[in-house]
Amino acid sequence: MKLAKTQPGTGTRLGRRAVPQPDRQSALVVVDLQNDFFPGGALGVQGANEMIPLVNEYIRLFHTRGFPVMATRDWHPPGHCSFTEQGGPWPVHCVQGSRGAQLHSDLVMPPGTLVISKGTDPKKDAYSGFEGTSLKDRFEDLGVKTLFVLGLATDYCVKHTVLDACKKGFRVVVIEDAIRGVEAQAGDSEKALQDMQASGAIKATAEDLGIDPSGL
Ligand SMILES: [Zn+2]
Repeated sequence: MKLAKTQPGTGTRLGRRAVPQPDRQSALVVVDLQNDFFPGGALGVQGANEMIPLVNEYIRLFHTRGFPVMATRDWHPPGHCSFTEQGGPWPVHCVQGSRGAQLHSDLVMPPGTLVISKGTDPKKDAYSGFEGTSLKDRFEDLGVKTLFVLGLATDYCVKHTVLDACKKGFRVVVIEDAIRGVEAQAGDSEKALQDMQASGAIKATAEDLGIDPSGL
């Protein structure tokens, strides 16, 4: 991995809070990087493909240091309440066992990555990785206090996962160059980021964590 020339995490840029660096009490949370959320999928998010090389760098950064990497996935039973035919807001997506529900094949997930399934109750939707899952217990078991969050989509599952994490007392870093939004309304992603920051989340980019994204 190429390292940026500047010292990471000095947090000296005006108007930015100091960015925490990954440590033994940190985990990377990869949110819903499943085929259906990439272009060509049932709910494809524009620009999602472009961030994969950078996502892999973040994963590598955590994995090589021995820090946990966790992935959440939307994992719906057929006939889930969020689907339009059931009166929900979304087309059929991320059905358990389908190709659309698989993590994108270009992702390099370390062996042993813990995958947390959400939205498994036919009658309940779950945008947050904490909703109806064991995610909080997993972090507590591992002694994790700081979450670095990236993935899809900024204005839905990333946002709700981050807001829940803040509410549950975790320190949360949103990796803003490795998230993309649905933008059902223009500006939704920016508003989501503001909501996350208002809840205490800190924004970071590759440079803040010592990754040089220029050659990716
Ligand atoms: Zn869903």
